[in-house]
Amino acid sequence: MNIHTIDQNFRDQSQSIAAFIVESSEGPILFECGPHSTMPTTHEGIEAAGFKVSDIKHVFLTHIHFDHAGAAWWYAKHNGAKVYVHPRGYKHMLNPERLYGSAKRIYGDMMDVLWGRMEAIDETLLVSVEDGQHFQIGNIEIKALHTPGHAVHHIAWQMGDQIIAGDVAGCKIGTGIVVPPCPPPDINIEDWENSIQILRDAQPKSLWLTHYGEVTNIDEHLDRLTWILHDWAGFIKPYFEKGASIEATTPDFLEYVNQQLLDGGVPKEDLPRYEAANPSFMSVAGLMRYWTKKMEKKA
Ligand SMILES: [Zn+2]
Repeated sequence: MNIHTIDQNFRDQSQSIAAFIVESSEGPILFECGPHSTMPTTHEGIEAAGFKVSDIKHVFLTHIHFDHAGAAWWYAKHNGAKVYVHPRGYKHMLNPERLYGSAKRIYGDMMDVLWGRMEAIDETLLVSVEDGQHFQIGNIEIKALHTPGHAVHHIAWQMGDQIIAGDVAGCKIGTGIVVPPCPPPDINIEDWENSIQILRDAQPKSLWLTHYGEVTNIDEHLDRLTWILHDWAGFIKPYFEKGASIEATTPDFLEYVNQQLLDGGVPKEDLPRYEAANPSFMSVAGLMRYWTKKMEKKA
């Protein structure tokens, strides 16, 4: 199977956000599509890989975060492409106002620069995908693995021994270490661990991370992801317990994570790539929210 990684060069950082093309006997299949803001770069990448943008008739989304799904509507609108999404992401792709609005509350005036536009996808082109559902496109068989933890609307897409893993297998750039992207509002460590087991049980030879690219040392990678997921949640817990704000916690967290990355062999010049792919204030917000929900449940 031929899988091509398309670099979106998000915020002028290479290897920060990927889209993937899988070649099929019915033409190229797009997995992930990045935000609308980087679409020209994505299209250059698609053409450089030897495909025509107009031939993309299927877009498989791992989840509906903007860096993964922001441009999906464009392929539906211009190519009549079908867009495949988790049932819990479906209504947001059908009617993106609420999703866009909640992102706008976080990003404000940066919304256009970072993510660009998001338009509704026609319901005749939007496919709500159940766990374990199979699709046959030409010679390629695709199976959906519902994999919550990073987001409740997350799907890893399995094709034989290859898995397009989105964010559930973490973020690992270049020769660096793996870290968990932890944005609000859905982070759930226990669900994430279950999903990591789902990935293991599928026995893939390769995991393809949106941030960024192919991973083949699966067990070691997933062990390390599990460890650091707990490590980050544990780092945030005392800040949560003393009621610290996201703003007050972020500098300490950023310093902690940067040291972790440097100690893990990430070259200093790659730190902005990690921050572009996985902003530290988002992980602080997401892990604070995780602890809040967990404590509410206990009480
Ligand atoms: Zn995400």
